[in-house]
Amino acid sequence: MSLVAVSLLAGTANMIAHESVHIIRTVVHSTAAAPPSAAASKARSLLTAAIADIKTNDALALTVESYRQASLSRDEVDPSTGRSDFIDARTALQLAAVSVRSAQRETEIKDFLDRGESLGRLAQQRRHSRAAYSSHVESIASRLQSSMGGEWTLFGRVIARQSLIKMHDVLDSIRQHAPSILFDETHGGNLASLIADESQFSELLASSQSTLTGSEGADWVRGVREDFDALVTLRVALTALNSRYDQAALQFAKNSRALLREIAAASDASRLVQDRWSNLAGAAHDLPAPTGSSITETTLERSDPNSARLMALVTAFVMLIIVVISFFTVRSIHVPVRWLVKASNELAMGPARVRVPRGGIRELDFVARSFNDMSLRLESARRAYKEQQESLEEQVLQRTQKLQELAQQDPLTSLPNRRHLAALLDSALDRARRGGRHVGIYFLDIDNFKNINDSLGHAFGDRVLISVAERLNELARGFGFVARLGGDEFTVVYENAESINSIHELGWMLARAFHKLVLVDERELSISVSVGASIFPEHESSAEGLLRAADSALFRAKELGRSQLALFTPELTTSAAARFAIEQGLRRALERSEFELHYQPEINPATSEIAIMETLLRWRLPDGRLASPAEFLSVAEQSGLMSDINTWVLRTAVLDAARWFHGGWAEVRVAINISPRQLLDHRFVERLLALLRELRLPPRCIELELTEMVLQTGPATIAALRELQGHGLGIALDDFGTGYSSLTSMENLPLTRIKLDRSLVARIDTSTRSAAIARAVIDLCADLGLEVTAEGIERPEQLAWFRDKHGILVQGFLLSEAVSFLEFASLKAILHNKIQDLLLSMPLPARAGKDAPLKVKIVSRR
Ligand code: C2E
Ligand code: CA
Ligand code: CA
Repeated sequence: MSLVAVSLLAGTANMIAHESVHIIRTVVHSTAAAPPSAAASKARSLLTAAIADIKTNDALALTVESYRQASLSRDEVDPSTGRSDFIDARTALQLAAVSVRSAQRETEIKDFLDRGESLGRLAQQRRHSRAAYSSHVESIASRLQSSMGGEWTLFGRVIARQSLIKMHDVLDSIRQHAPSILFDETHGGNLASLIADESQFSELLASSQSTLTGSEGADWVRGVREDFDALVTLRVALTALNSRYDQAALQFAKNSRALLREIAAASDASRLVQDRWSNLAGAAHDLPAPTGSSITETTLERSDPNSARLMALVTAFVMLIIVVISFFTVRSIHVPVRWLVKASNELAMGPARVRVPRGGIRELDFVARSFNDMSLRLESARRAYKEQQESLEEQVLQRTQKLQELAQQDPLTSLPNRRHLAALLDSALDRARRGGRHVGIYFLDIDNFKNINDSLGHAFGDRVLISVAERLNELARGFGFVARLGGDEFTVVYENAESINSIHELGWMLARAFHKLVLVDERELSISVSVGASIFPEHESSAEGLLRAADSALFRAKELGRSQLALFTPELTTSAAARFAIEQGLRRALERSEFELHYQPEINPATSEIAIMETLLRWRLPDGRLASPAEFLSVAEQSGLMSDINTWVLRTAVLDAARWFHGGWAEVRVAINISPRQLLDHRFVERLLALLRELRLPPRCIELELTEMVLQTGPATIAALRELQGHGLGIALDDFGTGYSSLTSMENLPLTRIKLDRSLVARIDTSTRSAAIARAVIDLCADLGLEVTAEGIERPEQLAWFRDKHGILVQGFLLSEAVSFLEFASLKAILHNKIQDLLLSMPLPARAGKDAPLKVKIVSRR
């Protein structure tokens, strides 16, 4: 729209200008066309002749001037347009030369014409040379340029490239300076510097000729050289041509000035004649006034009233158009801007979809379109954001639920955890209170689960726990629920029990449920659980109290052995408190060195000498009393203190053995009780052997006593035992005859000794059954090459039974109780005589045949 308006105005302005010229021309024409007056005297004819002369001279002067100007402008920049002007001017001057009345004038004009021609030739020659110069410069430049362009992409041609860059720079300088020196009419530049550039270029070309020939080729170098030589030649020629042209132009100008002076003089003479005769004729006012050399200086008017009106109208129209255009222009800006401002505010205020009406000037319309696009994108971004936020909220909700579940659930078995159990139990108790029912709370613990974990790995242990959880869940379905408290401890809650008896029955059902093998990783595993139970409301009324009571009962069940159920009794609370006190004391016992090792001898009745000293742990309580292992070992096991105690025992026992050995008792042997778990530590063997080395104690001086429980810890422990045996350590199977798998142990374990349990020895002299078993075992050991120790000899009759069994060691209170390391020296001093006395006081065997010495094969130890 604005463009149209401006075009309209420009057109109108053009029209006004055009109309003005037209008016001027009209005025000139009408003035020139005015008819002369009627005077026709002689004076008038003379006057007319004078006026004609003036006219001729004026015209001639104009023609000469035109020719001079045409000649010069022909030589200027544009010879093609200047050429036709020159030919016109030359023809006009040639005609004028022919028509002048003076012969001399005619010669002068022709001479002037010739000079003009030769000036033209010089100019043309110079133009050609300049063009040639420029073309040679450009030819060199394009060669350098193309080579440099190639150079940048090629590596390893740095020298050539640098020389090209230098040449290019010098050529640039030539290019820059040459026009002002050679082409410019003022010849303003410094010729010496141009020549210096040339010689520098020539030197560069010569010095890098071989490099450039190698990199750019011989043709390239030759081409540049030829162009450059031509350039120098042209520079010399152009310098000469410039000076020749300047001289010729000077001469031409002189000629023109002389000619014009002469023509003006002739014209002045005619004007004198005109002045004289014009007064006489009295008709000068009818004649046109003589003019100067310019016709446009004539006095002109443009006072045509019609034209003035037209002009006023046109001007008014233009003004109106301007006003209209201005109005629409302002409106086309103001309105869309208002729309845009309003829309921006709306957009900033809220999420509503905002559209700006299109229109107004093109730029604002473009802004409106962009705004609408932006608003659209913003709207979809807002929608996407909202959707994303909703999905995030959904995710957060799900996670929160999941977290809540996790907070209440045991991650391994998905059973309710300890926290959730408390809440579930609370509501179960509420229901029972209302219904007057009983609730049974069972605490279950997998027997020796730590051994499973240690020997078969924690991942396997986890799967055992999952299997146990599944089995308990199956059992509890329908009457209650199961929870996992952590580790291998589970809780089962029996809701709405009708009687205490049913709670008791379910307890046994839980304990026996694991008599069936458990399948884990396609492997049948024999496990057992101990169960402790408490009953609501009989034992406690709160969830917390009931759980505590069931825990105490579980401890009791553990004490009873594997796979047992124990119901809570108030006394258990007392023992739980005692246990707690023991645990607290044990935690400080190691730090305060309250443990002691006592030694009980195993004696060879044949020699009455001590063969082995068995290490037995004692705890000296703050009141000075000695506590036996039975009082604290189970607490130590359950509170995780056993490992430290075991380490202390082993080290102290080996130290004592070393002291006896280095103190002169070369045959000393110390037996140390080892719990199976110690062997699960893969560094046990290494540490023990290192200790022996450190104390320079032969391995044969140490015997390790283990119960058949060691069989449950897997092949790794048996391998460890085998290694120790290989080093010469003795391995004794303790408490033989108490467990289920004594014979299996004999077969699978790398043993050197069997220790007959006290229970077997107790009635050896009174029960033929015990005697028969003992005899069979002794025979078996003889066949297997195993040594035998009989434990718990309390009475002389028992000793008498073993007295004649060759190679069997005897141990028991009858011979000696366990004594401390310090007490040992005095014990040793009296022991030999004591044994002798004991043996002598004994009656001889009644029937030599029955209890005659067995032929026991004694395998000498390494
Ligand atoms: P054990 O290895 O069978 O040890 C023999 C137990 O029988 C000892 O009881 C000992 O004092 C007792 N005893 C010895 N002769 C007689 C006797 O003629 N009649 C009777 N009634 N008892 C006799 P203690 O010292 O109370 O040890 C009990 C158990 O504690 C040990 O049985 C052993 O299994 C364990 N124990 C003792 N010291 C350690 C130890 O340092 N480490 C480990 N892991 N266990 C130990
Ligand atoms: Ca023992
Ligand atoms: Ca024993």
